[in-house]
Amino acid sequence: MLFSPFNKLLNRGCRSNYDEETNRRIVVINLFALVGIILTFILGITALLGNDLSLGISLLAASSFFFLASQIQASSRNRFGHLIAVYLLTGCLMGLETYLIITGGYANTGPLWIYLLPPVAMFFGGFSRGLVVMGGFTLLIAIILFFPHDALLLTEYSHPFKTRLLYSFVTVTFLSAFYEYSRQRTYQTVRDLSAEFERQALHDTLTKLPNRRGMRQLMEQEIKRHQRNKLPLSVVLTDIDNFKKVNDTYGHGNGDIILKRTADILRQNIRRQDLVCRWGGEEFLIVLPETNETNAATLAEKIRKTLADSEIWLDERKIGITASFGICEINEDVSVDRALTLADKALYQAKHQGRNRVVLSHDN
Ligand code: GH3
Ligand code: MG
Ligand code: MG
Repeated sequence: MLFSPFNKLLNRGCRSNYDEETNRRIVVINLFALVGIILTFILGITALLGNDLSLGISLLAASSFFFLASQIQASSRNRFGHLIAVYLLTGCLMGLETYLIITGGYANTGPLWIYLLPPVAMFFGGFSRGLVVMGGFTLLIAIILFFPHDALLLTEYSHPFKTRLLYSFVTVTFLSAFYEYSRQRTYQTVRDLSAEFERQALHDTLTKLPNRRGMRQLMEQEIKRHQRNKLPLSVVLTDIDNFKKVNDTYGHGNGDIILKRTADILRQNIRRQDLVCRWGGEEFLIVLPETNETNAATLAEKIRKTLADSEIWLDERKIGITASFGICEINEDVSVDRALTLADKALYQAKHQGRNRVVLSHDN
C-alpha cells in the first residue's frame, strides 16, 4: 500500500499496447529521471548556497530538463514521447558531465559522475545506439582532456588522473556494452521461445495444421470481417470414413501417415483465403470466407472426389480412403456455434446415408 503512489509514479507512460521491453525502459527512465531531478536539485541548491553560481545554475537546469523529459514521456500517447525523453535525458546527462569535466565541478570531483553515463546510455539506447553515443562521448572527453596546453579545461588535472579516468571510463563502457548485449540476446531468445511455444500450442504436431484452439483464434478475425462486409461465410466439417478399420488393418503408424496425407490434400485443394484445421481425431474443419452454402458444397464435392481418387502408398501397398462432409452457412440467423452444430448434424447424415458424400445443413 505504502509503495502504491511510488509505483504509480514509476509506471507513468507505460501502456498495455507497448511491448514488455519498452514498458520496462519507461519504468527505468522514470526512476532515473526521479533520482536525477532530486540529486541535481539538491546539489544545485548546495552549489548556489556555496556561491558557485555557474555550477548551481547548470545543475538546476539539468534538474529541469530531467523533469521535462519525464513529463513528456508520461503525457505522450505514442513511442515518440518515450524517444524524446531518452534523447533529452541522455543529451542532458552528457552535457552536464562535459561541463563537470571542463570545470572540475565541486572541488574537482566533477569527473567522478561520468561513470553514470555508460550504463544509462546502453540501457536507454540499446547496444548499438548506446555504443555509437559512448564512442562519440569518449572521443569528446579525450579531446577535452588532452587538448594541447589544457586549452579546453577551466581546471587542472594531473596527467595520470586524466589517463586513468579515460582508461577506467572505457572499461566501464565496455562492460556496460557487454552486459547490454547479453541482456538483449537473452531477451530475444526468450521471445523466440515464447513465440515458438505459442505457435505449438495453436498447431497440431502431426499434420502441422492449426488445432481447434488455433482455429478458434483465426475464426474470430474471419467472423469480424464477415460482420463488417456482410458477405456469406460457410463451415465444412469433414471426417474420414471408417478410419478405425484403417488403423486396425494397417496399424496406428500408417493411420498417422494417412492423416498427414489427408491434411495435405485438404490444404492443396482450398483457396488462399480459406482456413483448414484438425478439429479432432480424424475430423477436419474448413472455413470458407465469402462463400455461400451452395458454393461451399461445390468445393467440398471437389475435395471429396480428389480424396476418393487419390492413392496413398503404405509399405508398397496402395490404399484408398474416403471422407464425408457436412456443410452450414453462417449468417444473421445462424451463429458460429450453431453453424458448427448444424454442420456436425449434416456430417452425421452423410455417414448415415452411406458415407463418401456431401450433405448441406438445410437438406436435413
Ligand atoms: P466413421 O466413418 O463413422 O467416421 O467411422 P470411423 O471408424 O472413422 O470413426 P470412429 O469414431 O469409430 O473412429 C475414429 C478413429 O480415429 C478411432 C481413433 O483411434 C482414430 N484416430 C483418432 N486420432 C488419431 C490419430 O492421431 N492417429 C491415428 N492413427 N488414429 C487416430
Ligand atoms: Mg471417421
Ligand atoms: Mg470422427
